[in-house]
Amino acid sequence: MDFFKPVDLHKEGENKEIQHVEKVKCLIIGSGPAGYTAAIYAARANLKPVLYTGLQMGGQLTTTTEVENFPGYPEGITGPEMMEDLKKQAEKFGTDIRFGIATDADFSGISHKITIDGEKIIDAEAVIIATGATARYLGLEAEKKYAGMGVSACATCDGFFYKKKDVAVVGGGDTACEEASYLAGMCNKVFLIVRRNVLRASKAMQERVMKTPNIEVLWEHQTIDLFGENGVEGASLVKKKGTPQEENVKIKIHGFFLAIGHTPNSDVFKKYLDTDEVGYIKTIPGTSKTNINGVFAAGDVQDPHYRQAVTAAGSGCMAAIDAERYLSEYKN
Ligand code: FAD
Ligand code: NAP
Repeated sequence: MDFFKPVDLHKEGENKEIQHVEKVKCLIIGSGPAGYTAAIYAARANLKPVLYTGLQMGGQLTTTTEVENFPGYPEGITGPEMMEDLKKQAEKFGTDIRFGIATDADFSGISHKITIDGEKIIDAEAVIIATGATARYLGLEAEKKYAGMGVSACATCDGFFYKKKDVAVVGGGDTACEEASYLAGMCNKVFLIVRRNVLRASKAMQERVMKTPNIEVLWEHQTIDLFGENGVEGASLVKKKGTPQEENVKIKIHGFFLAIGHTPNSDVFKKYLDTDEVGYIKTIPGTSKTNINGVFAAGDVQDPHYRQAVTAAGSGCMAAIDAERYLSEYKN
């Protein structure tokens, strides 16, 4: 399953007639911790929020197992369970939660127009963008060739298919370490392919990896290709690329898991909103305000630094409060 495959939003939206315009007070785009928290606050403030979930209802945490660092769950909780709880809480206060993807945006007027699924326009007084981030790939042709046949960006979705087999995870951050640990519990062996000689992951995650006997860290290795007849059977790597010690290495694996970070889902809004060079939406420091009045951003889509569920939820709260204040001025 190619769970994280980005949607071609412009293609989705083309050749469809806009049939309907609906006016709403507060539109929330995205159903991760940021979107649902914004919805809880906006609904309780009587903003009658409409929330569009996007393709990944519940956001990134639906792809993970245990979440141990979100306050309020001393025993930990699975990502999908936690997101279901957040959804219920948002619904309890009256959020109108709908399945749909924002495919276009027009922030040129006083109210803001968002096209949903290329066929309906939501004309919103305030918009909260909480579209999160999407997994990155290395850009190898082989990743496309073996998509769904050994290449995955989600160990919790696809790990099951590689029970008792050898697999590799690429990356050196928390996600890579977490995915490697998860896979180590069901696979025979896990290679962790790290491009530098250090891990970026937190100390706790690093320790977990180092203590797991069936994880082998391949330091300073880069993947250049994958091979196999009817699916991935191995990867071609280069050790210490560009140095006198450069060496070609082949490993035999059946699963190749990408865990090399994410790209903020901001393309639809870039025409109007200021972003940094990676695409993270810029907000006025200490607020969720973007460069457009009445448009707010929360969660990973505007956060290149922390990218945690609790910071996403916190910024969702900020966005709803900022929207509420904006709307009370907007009316006057
Ligand atoms: P996301 O969770 O990314 O949600 C974005 C939402 O926007 C999705 O619902 C998507 O469908 C929607 N969307 C996107 N584009 C559109 C569109 N065009 N139209 C409509 N909707 C759209 N953090 C922790 O604190 N603890 C952990 O243990 C932890 N574990 C993690 C494990 C993994 C494997 C990963 C990948 C991340 C983990 N994180 C963890 C990080 C955490 O998941 C994120 O920081 C958090 O989910 C960000 O929340 P968000 O609401 O900003 O966005
Ligand atoms: P990340 O922190 O950005 O790490 C990405 C990793 O991939 C880095 O080690 C990077 O290498 C490597 N990488 C990037 N491009 C590469 C390429 N082309 N080839 C090889 N390697 C490449 O991303 P993340 O691990 O997904 O974490 C994102 C955020 O979520 C972080 O804030 C993290 O703390 C959080 N998170 C938290 C938890 C938790 O608390 N339990 C779990 C998962 C994620 P370099 O180091 O060399 O740059």
